[in-house]
Amino acid sequence: IITVRAMSKRFGDFEALTDISIDVRRSEVLCLIGPSGSGKSTLLRCMNFLERYDEGEVRMEGELIGWRDDGAAPRRPLPSAVLREQRKHIGMVFQQFNLWPHFTALQNVAEALLRVKRLPRDEAFARAEAALGKVDLADKAGNHPSGLSGGQQQRVAIARAIAMEPRVMLFDEPTSALDPELVGEVLSVMKQMAAEGMTMVVVTHEMGFAAHVADRVAFLDRARLVACVPPAEIFGATPADERIRAFLQTYR
Ligand code: ATP
Ligand code: MG
Repeated sequence: IITVRAMSKRFGDFEALTDISIDVRRSEVLCLIGPSGSGKSTLLRCMNFLERYDEGEVRMEGELIGWRDDGAAPRRPLPSAVLREQRKHIGMVFQQFNLWPHFTALQNVAEALLRVKRLPRDEAFARAEAALGKVDLADKAGNHPSGLSGGQQQRVAIARAIAMEPRVMLFDEPTSALDPELVGEVLSVMKQMAAEGMTMVVVTHEMGFAAHVADRVAFLDRARLVACVPPAEIFGATPADERIRAFLQTYR
């Protein structure tokens, strides 16, 4: 559903991603792991053009993301209205939940439906309610973020993304800001989404999740994609690549 081809990204002179090629298949869970600074967040952000990639291509269902696909050089970005349209199909969940503090959980989820999808009020709220049900928060719909735990707030953020009915969901360390005892509830919601067939790309330090839920695990090291393989090849026996072995050591 997403194809990344020979993609590179620089910040000034610094090469953050070098020649990345990777496919995200429909309904798969692809976990991105790797050392801090290896480029995981940057790769995720290039997928929805929150960062402009310099070379190569990111396509979703064949459509070039972010850049005009007219072969002109240098490339020019798409008009923002078109980019917004592309992004409607790509949900994103960050480490920070970014909820509106003065809105209830339900209003937080409904807001994007009203603003971005321009749904009528009752339809937006009905859909928001259903999305909160999916993350097991139907009973907290009326709470403001300040009246929710971190895990619950992150689940509201996930519901907000689900409600938009994206084709793909991108997660950047969705549990890293949570107290350890709250991590499980968020991971289990994500696991449930995976079981329902959502296509997901997940940057995570939760090796248990990567090992048990991912269909494939991509390992990044210093801007390069080292491997993109079934989890057993990374977590089973001894991974072939020395960089992967060294990385996993830090978790033991
Ligand atoms: P972490 O696990 O710590 O989140 P990461 O793998 O997500 O790390 P990125 O955030 O993708 O790493 O960053 C990759 C590299 O690009 C880092 O060296 C970082 O310093 C650099 N970088 C990221 N964003 C910018 C920016 N806006 N300007 C300059 N350099 C940047
Ligand atoms: Mg990151």
